[in-house]
Amino acid sequence: MDKIVAVKGMNDILPPQSASWEALESLVRNVMRRFAFENIRTPIVEPTALFVRGLGEVTDIVEKEMYSFEDRLNGEALTLRPENTAGVVRAVVEHSLLYNGPKRLYYMGPMFRHERPQRGRYRQFHQIGAEALGFGGPEVDAEVILMAHMLWQELGLTDIELQINSLGQPEERHRHRAALIEHFESHKDALDEEAKRRLHLNPLRLLDSKNPAMQPVIEAAPKLIDFLGSASKAHLDSVLRLLESHGVPYTINPRLVRGMDYYNLTVFEFVTTKLGSQGTVCAGGRYDYLIEQIGGKPSPGVGWAMGVERVLELIQESARPLPTPVLDVFAVILDSDYLPSVMPVLSSLRQAGLSVQMQASTPEGMPSLKSQFKRADSSGARYALVFGPDEISSGQVTIKSLRNADVPQVTIALTEVAQWASHQAS
Ligand code: ATP
Ligand code: MG
Repeated sequence: MDKIVAVKGMNDILPPQSASWEALESLVRNVMRRFAFENIRTPIVEPTALFVRGLGEVTDIVEKEMYSFEDRLNGEALTLRPENTAGVVRAVVEHSLLYNGPKRLYYMGPMFRHERPQRGRYRQFHQIGAEALGFGGPEVDAEVILMAHMLWQELGLTDIELQINSLGQPEERHRHRAALIEHFESHKDALDEEAKRRLHLNPLRLLDSKNPAMQPVIEAAPKLIDFLGSASKAHLDSVLRLLESHGVPYTINPRLVRGMDYYNLTVFEFVTTKLGSQGTVCAGGRYDYLIEQIGGKPSPGVGWAMGVERVLELIQESARPLPTPVLDVFAVILDSDYLPSVMPVLSSLRQAGLSVQMQASTPEGMPSLKSQFKRADSSGARYALVFGPDEISSGQVTIKSLRNADVPQVTIALTEVAQWASHQAS
């Protein structure tokens, strides 16, 4: 029969690479815990209206990247989530999570965007995101940025630059919008078709264009930062002062606008030059109007999302691999008849906390001693525990170090195995 293969742009995450994923996730959980962020898990499928309303109709994601379909029973318009800020906000509003005060939340999981697959850009990709809801002050903008910064430090990633900007408030954007339209109107020849179409719908999106031919006219466009009032300027300044007080370097990038409409005030990206053109590993900002946009009581928010594939690729580039677990024991078992006495011993090892890979029979039966030792070696285990005829008849097991040839092989009684295990585990 023909093989069925995965959907283009959607990847299997296989061992041993999956161990790096788990290691990254557990490191992230640990950082989240230290910042007192709680885990939230929302559905992968959401009503399409959530993203149309939340992200904005004239955005790349909503216009061309969503996997949308109709529910076959009731015709409801549904979408595989392309991002998860809108979903988190939907859940927070639906369950009145802010009723008792602000919340700090984080999530991890797959997102879906119909993009052209390339290095660092997939159709199913994974994000880890943090959202702080109900806090309006600059200190929480700084806090979420510091959290990402701590993550890079713990991962040993040094080639990441923090770029930051302010998108101000709606009325400031409104004045900037008029200036933008005027600027682009007078350079209409330099615009591509998409830019021309978006010019009057959502001119800010033009600044986000990746079309190289448009970069000079984008570069010359009026900067939002010049339209900020004193409150917006003060907010940005406070965020920057707090970053400075932690020695976190940053660059102000007045061109930074982000791809969704929900942002205001602080926006930021962590960018690396090590990943080619897909250099943004984490991006976010403040979204003080999203909660009401989604039907909640007006309440501020700030957060970021990190691209897991890109971060893992950067870790690989940096040659500082994540610590992944090693196998403690490979159990060499010469005859299936020994299993009733061997398997309880393996259980006692596992109860002591050791990881144990048991040789089991294949359709050809139990493999030979030689082939079992080969497997034990390639398993990377620290020890082989050998259960052969001599050992079984005398109620013993032979322990052989697979890592260190200087450690002598020993044969001990099965009754002593638990003690050996607790010594190994400590
Ligand atoms: P880009 O400009 O690269 O398209 P974006 O602005 O669309 O990114 P966000 O929506 O802000 O990205 O998502 C946050 C992060 O998720 C990105 O910085 C990136 O690391 C990651 N990301 C976004 N889209 C993809 C994708 N298709 N494949 C892999 N990672 C992605
Ligand atoms: Mg994108």
